[in-house]
Amino acid sequence: MKKISLYSPFIGAVVKLEQVPDLVFADKLVGDGVAIEPFDCHIYAPLDSVVKSIHNSLHAITLLADDNIEVLLHIGLDTVELAGKGFELDIKVGDKVKRGQILGKFDLDLVARQAKSLLSPVLIMHNGHYHIEEITAPSIITTANTVLFTIAITASQADTNQTQVERLIASTPIKIRNLHGIHARPAALISNEANKYVGSVVIEKSPHRANAKSVVELLSLAVNHDDEVIIHAANKQIITAITDILNQLHDENNQPLPMLNNSSTDALMGEVIKHNYMGMVAAHGITIGKLLIKQNVTLDITETATDIDAEHALLVKALKQVEQELEQIVAQHSDKLVKDIFATHLALLRDTTLLDGAIQLINQHKTALYAFKQVIDDKAALLIQSHNQLLAERQADFHDIYKRVASAISGVSLAGINSATPAILVAHELTPLDMLNLTPNIVGLVTVTGGTTSHVAILARAKQIPLLIGVHADILKLTGDIDAILDTYQATLNTQPSVADMATAEDNIRKQRNKQQLHQQAASAAAVTTDGVEIKCLANIASIDDAKQLASCGASGVGLFRTEFMYMHREFAPTILEQQQIYTQIAQLTGNAPLVMRTLDGGGDKPLSYLAQAPSSNVLLGVRGIRLSLANRQLLIEQLTAILALEHKQLKIMLPMITTLDEYRSVKQLLAELSMVHNSSAKIELGIMVEVPAVVLQSEIFAKEVDFFSIGTNDLSQYVLAMDRENIALAAQVDYLHPALLKSIQLVVNAAVKYNRTVSVCGMMASEQLALPLLIGLGITELSMDIPAIAANKALIRRLELNQCKQAALQCVNFATAAEVRAYLMHNFSHIISEGLV
Ligand code: PEP
Ligand code: MG
Repeated sequence: MKKISLYSPFIGAVVKLEQVPDLVFADKLVGDGVAIEPFDCHIYAPLDSVVKSIHNSLHAITLLADDNIEVLLHIGLDTVELAGKGFELDIKVGDKVKRGQILGKFDLDLVARQAKSLLSPVLIMHNGHYHIEEITAPSIITTANTVLFTIAITASQADTNQTQVERLIASTPIKIRNLHGIHARPAALISNEANKYVGSVVIEKSPHRANAKSVVELLSLAVNHDDEVIIHAANKQIITAITDILNQLHDENNQPLPMLNNSSTDALMGEVIKHNYMGMVAAHGITIGKLLIKQNVTLDITETATDIDAEHALLVKALKQVEQELEQIVAQHSDKLVKDIFATHLALLRDTTLLDGAIQLINQHKTALYAFKQVIDDKAALLIQSHNQLLAERQADFHDIYKRVASAISGVSLAGINSATPAILVAHELTPLDMLNLTPNIVGLVTVTGGTTSHVAILARAKQIPLLIGVHADILKLTGDIDAILDTYQATLNTQPSVADMATAEDNIRKQRNKQQLHQQAASAAAVTTDGVEIKCLANIASIDDAKQLASCGASGVGLFRTEFMYMHREFAPTILEQQQIYTQIAQLTGNAPLVMRTLDGGGDKPLSYLAQAPSSNVLLGVRGIRLSLANRQLLIEQLTAILALEHKQLKIMLPMITTLDEYRSVKQLLAELSMVHNSSAKIELGIMVEVPAVVLQSEIFAKEVDFFSIGTNDLSQYVLAMDRENIALAAQVDYLHPALLKSIQLVVNAAVKYNRTVSVCGMMASEQLALPLLIGLGITELSMDIPAIAANKALIRRLELNQCKQAALQCVNFATAAEVRAYLMHNFSHIISEGLV
C-alpha cells in the first residue's frame, strides 16, 4: 500500500480537529486532518502538488497532489469575512509547488483580532481511495519540515470529475444570497448532503460544473454572492435538499440551522464578535427591530437634610403612594404571574425594616431619598452575599421598589419604556416593573446582567418576547438609528445586518409563524414517530392559568404539577380548603387525562418565608424537596389530605428530590394511613422524581418499590455535574446533553423496563428539540414539557425515526463531552429540526 507524508504548512500548536469551534470542521464534514494555531505568518506547501483553487478571500487554498490527493489549507475560522484583507499569496491556480515552498503569508495580528479564530484546519478531502493512516504531529511544530500525518492510498482513483449531466434533472437557477458565496462551510454542507445519495450530483455555475460531492470542486467553482447556480441530480429530493441549504445560507456564523437552548454558543456568553453580540438565551424567538438603548435616569441625590420632619413626612407619603399603586396593580391584573410578582413587591415594601432603617438615617440628618436608597442598597447587597443566584436575581425586585419610591419622593418619572416602532430594548438590567411597562412595540429584549430564572425571564417567556442576557456591556455604547436582528436560537444580536441577513430573518420569522400555525392546528393529534411509536407529550403546569391552556396546547395530560408555586410569595402555607379548591379546578381542567401532582418542592432555591430553616452554606444540598416536607410533617399531611379529597381517575402523586428509599417508604406509609383515616379507597400511584445521583445508582432497588419514575433533568444535571443550575457563570456548562447525564437516564430506563415501571422526563430537557431524539432513543416514551413547546415538539416527533434515535443514543452515551453530543445531534438531526422551525 502506497503511503504519502503530509508536512506542516504552518509553524504553531497542533489541535485535534474535534476541538475546532466550528462544527463543519470538528465534525469532519470537509475532510480529515488536524488544525494548527499558527505562531508564524508563513504558509508552506505541505507536499509536492498543484494549486487547484484559491478562494477569492485568499483564506483557503486547495492543492492536488499525486494519486489525486486533495488537500485544503483553511487559514483561520470565518476568515472568509476578511475578504482577502491581511493575506498575500505568492501562487496562482495551476502553479506547481514543492514541499516546503512558501505559498504566501498572512497578517497574524489582524487575523487574530478580526477573525473568529486563528485555528487553521489542514485537511485531506473525503475521497474513497485514500485516508489518514496515522497522525504523527507533535503538539508544537517548530519547523515546516515536520510530518503531520501519513496518508495511505487504498485503491486506484476512479475519475471523480466525470459527471453525467445529460441524464440528470436540472433545478431552476438559484441565486446565492449570502455575501461570501459557497466557501468552505457551505461547500461542506452541500457535499455532505450530496454524499447521502447514490449517483451524480452536479452544481453548475455556467459555463463551469462541479461535482457537488467534492468540497474541493465546489470551492474551485468560485461561487460568489449574487451568482446563479443550477443543481443537476438524478432525483428531485436531492435537488430540494441542496436548494434548501443554498437558500438558508447566512453571512455571519454561517450556520443555516438554529442552535437551541443551552447551545454551545451559550458558552460564548458575554463575547462580542464585531457586530454580533452573543449571550445566553432566557426566552426563545427571532425578531427584527430598531435598537432602543435604555438610558438609566439618574437622580441628583442630596445627602444632608435640613428639615428632618419634612423628610420623614416625605418618605411616609411616598411609601403610602407606592403601596396604593402596587395594590392597584395586584387588583387589576388577571395574570397570576404578574399578580404574584407585584404581591411580592408589596410584601417587601411593607417590610418594616425598610421604613425603620430609613427613618434611622433620616434622624441622622439624611434626606428621605438618600436614606431609602441606602437601605435598599444594603438589602440588595445582602441578597448578593447570599451566594444564591436565585436570591441574587431578586435584587432587581428591590431596585424596582426603589425606583417607584424614588419617583414618588422626587416627582421624576423613572418608568415607562416606549417606542412608536418595533424595537429591541437593550438595557443593563430590566426589572419586573420595566416588563410591565413594555409597550407592544417592544419585540425583543437584551440585557447585560440578569439570569435565566429571574422574574424578568419568566415574564419574557410568558409574553413570548425573545430575551438574550449576559451580553457584553459595549452594547450600551451604541448610538444612532440601528436596525438589528435578535435571534435567540443562534444566541445572537446582529447590530449590522446586511440586506441579505434582513431578508433571511424576515423570511425565517414569516416561515416560523406559518409553521407555528401548522403545529398548532395539529397539536391535538398524537405524536407518533415515522416508524409508528407513540410518544406521550404531557404538560408541566404551575397554576390554574396554565391548566386553562391544557385543552388547546396538545398535551395529553399533566406530567408535572409544580404545587409549590401555591406556597410561595405568601405569609403562611395554603390551608387544606384553599388547596382543595385549587386542585379541584385543576383536575376539572385536566378532564379525563392523567394528572401527576408533585408534592411541595420547597426549600433550596424556593425558600418559604414562613418555614424557619437553619442557615446552610449550600441551600441546594440542604433541606429541600421531600426532605423539607418530611421535616414539616404537618404540611405534608395537609397536602396529602387535600390531594386525597380529589376525585380524578388518573391522579398520581410524585415526590420531589427523593434520595433514600426510607424517604419514599415513609411517605407511602403516611399516604396509606391518611387514606384509611379519610376512607379513601382510590388506588393512587406514588412515584418519584429522579433528581439525585443516588437514586440513579440505586434505580433497580427503587424500581422494585416505586410506582413510576419521572426524571427531573434540571436538578439531575446540577447534581451529577456538581454545578449550581442557577449560577450564571456555570449556565453554559450545566448541560443536560452531558454524556454523564445521558448515562444516568439510560440506567434509570433500564431499571424501569426491568421492573415494568413507567419512566418519563419532566425537566427542561424534555422541552428542547435537540434533546428529543436522544430521549426517545434512550427509551423514554413519556415527556412532560413547557406548554408553549408542546405543539412544535409533537410535530418534530412525527418527523423522527425511532431507529435513528436509538442509534444516536447508543453513540452519544459513549461520547466524552457534551460538545461531542451536541455536534453529533446537530449533524444528524438539525436538518429535521430546522424543517419545523423555518
Ligand atoms: C427538575 O429538576 O428537572 C424538575 C422538573 O423540577 P424543578 O425544575 O421544579 O426543580
Ligand atoms: Mg427539580
